Amino acid sequence: MDTKMKSTLFKKSTFKNLLQYVKPYKKIFYICIILAIVIAIISPIRPYIIQLTVDSAIHKTNLLPHWLSNLFPIAWQNNVLQLILGVTIFQIGFIIIESFFKFIFAYLSALLGQSVIYDLRVLVFQKILHFNLSEFDKTPIGTLTTRTINDIESINEIFSDGFISILGDCLTIIVVLATMFYIDWKLSLIALSVFPVIIIATYFFKESVNKSFTNVRNAVAKLNAFVQEHLVNMQLVQAFTGEDKEFKKFSTINNEHKKANIKAIFAYSVFFPIIEILSAISIGLIVWYIANKKMDAGLLISFILYINQIYRPLRVIADKFNIFQMGMIASERVFTILQNDNFQEKNEKGLKIPIKGNIEFKNVSFYYNPDKWILHNIHFSLNVGETIAIIGRTGSGKSTIIQLINLLYQHQQGDILIDGRDIRDFNITYLRKKIAIVSQDLFLFSGSIIDNITLKDTNIDFKEVVNIAKDLGVHDFILSLPGGYDYQIKERGASLSVGQKQIICFIRALINNPSILILDEATSSVDKESERLIKQATEKMIKGRTTIIIAHRLSTIRNADKIMVIDKGEVVEYGTHDELMVNDKIYADFYEIQQSGFDEF
Ligand code: ATP
Ligand code: MG
Repeated sequence: MDTKMKSTLFKKSTFKNLLQYVKPYKKIFYICIILAIVIAIISPIRPYIIQLTVDSAIHKTNLLPHWLSNLFPIAWQNNVLQLILGVTIFQIGFIIIESFFKFIFAYLSALLGQSVIYDLRVLVFQKILHFNLSEFDKTPIGTLTTRTINDIESINEIFSDGFISILGDCLTIIVVLATMFYIDWKLSLIALSVFPVIIIATYFFKESVNKSFTNVRNAVAKLNAFVQEHLVNMQLVQAFTGEDKEFKKFSTINNEHKKANIKAIFAYSVFFPIIEILSAISIGLIVWYIANKKMDAGLLISFILYINQIYRPLRVIADKFNIFQMGMIASERVFTILQNDNFQEKNEKGLKIPIKGNIEFKNVSFYYNPDKWILHNIHFSLNVGETIAIIGRTGSGKSTIIQLINLLYQHQQGDILIDGRDIRDFNITYLRKKIAIVSQDLFLFSGSIIDNITLKDTNIDFKEVVNIAKDLGVHDFILSLPGGYDYQIKERGASLSVGQKQIICFIRALINNPSILILDEATSSVDKESERLIKQATEKMIKGRTTIIIAHRLSTIRNADKIMVIDKGEVVEYGTHDELMVNDKIYADFYEIQQSGFDEF
């Protein structure tokens, strides 16, 4: 955690910001505040009445205020015992009312917290959904998860256990103190003579718990990140027999977590007894003073009750204050996400005209980070139905070109035109439907094959899917899997081979009948049978569609209308197979070598 944030309490603007989200629930908020005030104000009434009743019994005179004795006049007229009975009934009624207020208060403040964090979570997730991809390159996924889940949960605590409840506790303490001083200021001073010690103890407790909790949270975040990363990459861990080493790392982090928690628990186990002792000393002082001055027993009872009423909130106030502080730090982080303006301009009003499939790149340059240009003046054009094969070394920028056509990233220089219009003029959602991409990563989620193809779009007819599969010549292959189209794919497609995944992604790409097709061929080699299927399917897909294919198979490259060789983000060769062979440079060299070896780049 940022130590700077930790040391400063919180920014006023953050609190103001947070209140913005309370606005829709203004009524609940005000009712909570009013209830907190009412609960505080009525808290000294019961002990006070007990005092008066006890003293009335001792002195055999009615010391109760008129309004109260008027509630049970008959009782009073008869005898003291009946008066006590009347007062007891009144007290029970009063406790019920007080508890009812407390119940409503607890319920409403929890409701308020839950409503605010529900809204915040929706906003944060919506924001994240529309972030530019470059934002994900900068922010680790674990951090974004923590923002959406844990941090927002801490904000809830500001409402359910934080600031309104601190306000209520402070008010209770003030009202009870005022009553005590009103009744007997000398006795109050004596009872509270241990207060400075309480304040010092509370301060140290708060600091120590705050530090430990910060450590606990950091340790939890580390544990989360570690476990997540290792679960995802378990194959790698096991393949490199890193189990023991990784387990040791895990144990270290787990140990940090334990230590941080034990420190926090230690602070609690020291603080609570100290407060108990101090409260006992206060009561001792009261007893001593009253006995010494031979004062009434009623006063003794009521002051003991008051001391309890003060110490109860005091015990938890430091804790609540920490919760509040943590919540404010969490809010600050969540607001940074909400205020982040690196999100996609969706251009919802953009063009939704039929796309024929002309593509033109005019001197397009692009960087992910301003300190390193990745693409330099990429220039090529494709007519409707033509195919271009892009080849080049790993890291030369081939996949990046694709990201630009799909507007996942936006180019900084030059123009990308589709059917002669700037790509940014189109409605992004519409455009993405018309451009089908089979990416290198072959993304699949856990679920059936059919769900992976349709992405659970219920408008897509099963027959359509089968038709496309038949057309690509892969229908029988899918039926050969257990369950056919209902075959359950494990998370990230772990239960399928690369070739099988590719075939499923092919069908998915064609489902919207795109006019532009982009294939980023996976480099891993597949078995002969899958190879045949993929080759045949690729040829069928390409037919009649403008296609950009990042190719590794010589056969695909040869059949392309144009070939573009990229090196370090620059076009180094561009033309047909024959032209490039005549040129006798990089492509010709590649071709010769590959042909003599195996059919792949
Ligand atoms: P391969 O054949 O291995 O798929 P490629 O030609 O597709 O390689 P790209 O993925 O386009 O290469 O990457 C081009 C360059 O951009 C590389 O140097 C890579 O490190 C960099 N790069 C890719 N993605 C990002 C990103 N999200 N943020 C920063 N740099 C990136
Ligand atoms: Mg790539």
